[in-house]
Amino acid sequence: MFAIKIKAVLVSLALALAWPASGALAQNKDLTVATDTAFVPFEFKKDGEYTGFDIELWQAIAKEAGLTYHLQPMDFNGIIPGLQTRNIDVALAGITIRDDRKKVIDFSEPYYESGLAILVNDDNTAIKTAKDLDGKTVAVKIGTATVDYLRKNVSTAKLKLFPNIDNAFLELATGRVDAVVHDTPNVQYYANTAGQGKVKVVGSLRSGDFYGIAFPKGSDLVPVVNKALATIKANGQYDAIYEKWFGKMASKAD
Ligand code: GLN
Repeated sequence: MFAIKIKAVLVSLALALAWPASGALAQNKDLTVATDTAFVPFEFKKDGEYTGFDIELWQAIAKEAGLTYHLQPMDFNGIIPGLQTRNIDVALAGITIRDDRKKVIDFSEPYYESGLAILVNDDNTAIKTAKDLDGKTVAVKIGTATVDYLRKNVSTAKLKLFPNIDNAFLELATGRVDAVVHDTPNVQYYANTAGQGKVKVVGSLRSGDFYGIAFPKGSDLVPVVNKALATIKANGQYDAIYEKWFGKMASKAD
């Protein structure tokens, strides 16, 4: 019993000592960078390759900071647990910075302002605001901020959960749900591209959310990435990537 305890103490001591050392190596290893599998226009597969705002933002950050990496697309729901177990070094998936998440993972400085919006079929006239979702069936993505938001604020909506938002969009197209609720830039982009003429964005449920790049707790990459992010914001690279995917920034458009 005593021996086991001693062993446990030694193991945790060894872990504690190894922690900063292995952390210090993070910059030199081939980083595993998780992204969502499908979250237009931040990350999605086009002609067999992943592209999008998050992918290009990370490319620029990695180049600036001299980091090598490989992408690991996965369902959004697996990303935070993957960071917690340290199987992932970095994640970009339009991850909303929230206090509860900050308890288990670290975030970079915010890099994109977002919110939540409602998507319905083009001919739908019944749903215009959040309260119209009362009693309706709404497709949402597992593990996202939307699920928590609707459970809290529109508890009468019936949620149908999907690991991937593309399946939620399909469910709307086939009329098996009344609406999809998801991040505003995502539903807006979908409505303007693949969903054009079929679906429309009707209401903004929430705004003022910010996306951050996520890391395992205590990762020494956080200051490195923040510094590179600040540099590419100052030298115009961030703006160029933003404009490519979203058009001119609102504040600069007028
Ligand atoms: N912003 C949402 C969240 O963090 C999810 C975005 C996504 O589906 N990738 O919960």
